[in-house]
Amino acid sequence: MIHTQPSCTDIFESGLMPCEEALSRILNNLPAIEGYQRLPIEKARGRVLHETVVSASNVPPHTNSAVDGYALHSSDLPDQGIARLAVKGIALAGEPFRGSIEKGTCLRIMTGAAMPEALDTVIMQEHAEIKDGFITIDSRHKAGQNVRRAGEDIKQGETVLASGKLLTPPDIGLLASLGICEVNVKRKLTVAIASTGNEIVAPHQIPTEAGIFDSNRYSLFAALDRSDIEIIDLGIIEDDAEVLLQRFNEAGRHADVIISTGGVSVGEADFTKTALKNSGQVDFWKVAIKPGRPLAFGRIGNAAFFGLPGNPVAVLVTFYFFVLPALEKMLGIVDKPIAPTLTARTTENLRKKPGRTEIQRGIVSRDENGDWIVKTTGKQGSGILMSMSKANAFIILNHQDTSKSAGDWVTVMPFCGMF
Ligand code: AMP
Ligand code: MG
Repeated sequence: MIHTQPSCTDIFESGLMPCEEALSRILNNLPAIEGYQRLPIEKARGRVLHETVVSASNVPPHTNSAVDGYALHSSDLPDQGIARLAVKGIALAGEPFRGSIEKGTCLRIMTGAAMPEALDTVIMQEHAEIKDGFITIDSRHKAGQNVRRAGEDIKQGETVLASGKLLTPPDIGLLASLGICEVNVKRKLTVAIASTGNEIVAPHQIPTEAGIFDSNRYSLFAALDRSDIEIIDLGIIEDDAEVLLQRFNEAGRHADVIISTGGVSVGEADFTKTALKNSGQVDFWKVAIKPGRPLAFGRIGNAAFFGLPGNPVAVLVTFYFFVLPALEKMLGIVDKPIAPTLTARTTENLRKKPGRTEIQRGIVSRDENGDWIVKTTGKQGSGILMSMSKANAFIILNHQDTSKSAGDWVTVMPFCGMF
């Protein structure tokens, strides 16, 4: 009888941390960063608002017409039959009519033009007959129609954007509509990224005999390419415990977050683990997720540290499921973008072990009835980056799930909005 250790090929693995627990441990340990900067609104898209924006004025500022037509007193609307009213002037957007409009008369008015105070109703020009300076209208109209009231969009003193809002194009337009040209936004989060491994060479280098090109750092560059993040490139770090420690410690003085890939498993050459095992501030977890089982999380100096697995698909899966929510929390984002899921029928059998979450890569589409269906992108090894490149969605097989048969319903998380 030999004594073996648990591995990811066992039917049931013991000692694995459920995904939800890993994520909540990570999030509980990360306060939001402090510090902010002032930016012109044109530069603020994708940044995190660091103030509460209150409207100093009404939007729209004046009661105005919603259509091109004729403004009048609602008391002149006929209950039945028709009414005939003289047109006494014209109001254009930006050129209000200054005179007064007596009862029994009306004003030619264009969309956005200010309504004279005494008038309360606008007739669409298509609903009026105009002849010899008079309009004729029928009884279909209602008092108050086609008028946009001052402050109907936003009232003076109303909170329009909360601190922590991730600023979107409509938010930027909204700020401009209030006459606001600059806003305070959170400073950028600095994220240092490193690849580890003696076999890893940069794509512009000539590979050594047993070398492979570094893809992880480039996947991370791309995934972190957003306006609220500043990337520090730590390059490729060799499998040497002392060098790794020194580079991580150095990065821990400047960065808010360090993300490294590789070296966190249980192999002889898993130097990230060796280097940090005794630091006391980094824990090594076996998370119940495939791909992405080995995961390190902790603190190095001032920085949060994520040691992601080395396999390229595992890097992206752990990034999107664990690291990105952490970065959003550190950025103080209160309205996190939601990653919607669909329920789709799998068109093929999916093998799955209970007791861990499995993230397969799939192509989701609609069948001839318009129902969602999904198929995998073929071989699902955690090193096969093509399996993710070809995909448009993750297929999420939940912790308790067992294998699925063709025709079963599965949860699918489309990539849209994620990349
Ligand atoms: P490790 O966890 O360091 O043993 O890495 C696991 C697997 O991922 C090995 O096959 C590595 O060669 C591969 N790998 C590690 N880092 C990278 C990288 N930066 N780019 C591509 N493959 C990598
Ligand atoms: Mg390695």
